[in-house]
Amino acid sequence: MKKYTKLNHEELMSVHAQVSKEYERMKALNVNLNMARGKPDFEQIHLSLGVLDTVDSHYPFGDKINYCNYGILDGIDEAKQFFANILETSPDQVIVYGNSSLTIMFDQISRGYTHGYLGNKPWCQLDKIKFLCPVPGYDRHFAITEHFGFEMINIPMDENGPDMDLVEEYVNNDESVKGIWCVPQYSNPTGVTYSDEVVQRFAHLKPAAKDFRIFWDNAYVLHHLHTSPRAHVMDILKACKDAGNPNLVFEFCSTSKVTLPGAGVAALATSLENKADILKHMSIQCIGHDKINQLRHIEFFKRPNSLNKHMEKQARLLRPKFDTVSIVLSHELSRLNIATWTKPLGGYFVSFNAMEGCAKEIVKRCQEAGVTLTSAGATYPYGKDPHDSNIRLAPSYLPLDDLQLATEIFTICVKLVSLEKLME
Ligand code: PLP
Repeated sequence: MKKYTKLNHEELMSVHAQVSKEYERMKALNVNLNMARGKPDFEQIHLSLGVLDTVDSHYPFGDKINYCNYGILDGIDEAKQFFANILETSPDQVIVYGNSSLTIMFDQISRGYTHGYLGNKPWCQLDKIKFLCPVPGYDRHFAITEHFGFEMINIPMDENGPDMDLVEEYVNNDESVKGIWCVPQYSNPTGVTYSDEVVQRFAHLKPAAKDFRIFWDNAYVLHHLHTSPRAHVMDILKACKDAGNPNLVFEFCSTSKVTLPGAGVAALATSLENKADILKHMSIQCIGHDKINQLRHIEFFKRPNSLNKHMEKQARLLRPKFDTVSIVLSHELSRLNIATWTKPLGGYFVSFNAMEGCAKEIVKRCQEAGVTLTSAGATYPYGKDPHDSNIRLAPSYLPLDDLQLATEIFTICVKLVSLEKLME
């Protein structure tokens, strides 16, 4: 098949007629398949159900019986050590929370808004708050900053991370810029891992606002698809400390996609000064999180190397799914010159770029054929992709056969809409 972009009008019409037939055939299958959110499937969940058996009424609590009581606001020591190992930091910099890192992020923004960080003016008393948003990015980050009424500024990403010239320009000169959202390893949705140079440039920022913070969401720190090659993002907390900027970062992480998304454990790591400030507020908010679930996780992963082995089992389930998507996309689209997509080394997503002006229509046609995708635009602040091009594919949740079919239907919609665009 010739590149679609090289076809003349007549050829475009003829290919369009064939693809339309395929589309109608797929529609007649009446499928109902969801490729929208990056959820683990039930086989993945089964790998972690043992978490629930580790601590029950027969557990030899000994002096840990106080874990059943109120208190221990920053989490049990074992859990602080567990997350410190994952984030390559020290346990005294960690606070362990309940099940969701997104809740911690919301709380952090909320605290900046109502009370301010480290004695700075609360953001609610300022006229304008701006947040930098590397794009494409995670819709729920953008939803939080939109909820608080902040102005969001798109920062383009490349294969090394956000455009740091632009980040420096904004952060170092504009006092109303108070934060940036980052997913530094296996970014959602691009799969990009920030280079050491990008991390160092973050650490050496000279923010115009004293209360500017980097929201470093290391959600996919453990989520390698392969034993090798693997990405590894530099420790930002240490980089910031070494650069004389110790308070610049809040780092987040959780076991949502390590164990049970609905019943995992989440954590924040930051400087000692930030941590003390957070705990001061938290002591009003709660008396302690679910320490028994923290202990369950510690027991589940107590054997040496068990966390790594567990993540390798997760990868063995996920890899064939990413391979399926990659094979179908390559087979159906690679020669047509109408799209590009990522082949990530980890994380949960494939980021697909259609021809400009096609993404919304592709998602619509997929929906009409029974395949639900993340809304077009969701990977941009305010749901507005200026190029109407990016679509986030989530291979994890569907069984393999369904995933193959959903991806095939997707490619038919991509062809159909691209041909229509070229015929305009
Ligand atoms: N951060 C990123 C980048 C995510 O992709 C997700 C879920 O998809 C989350 C956070 C949600 O984390 P949690 O389950 O800990 O709230």
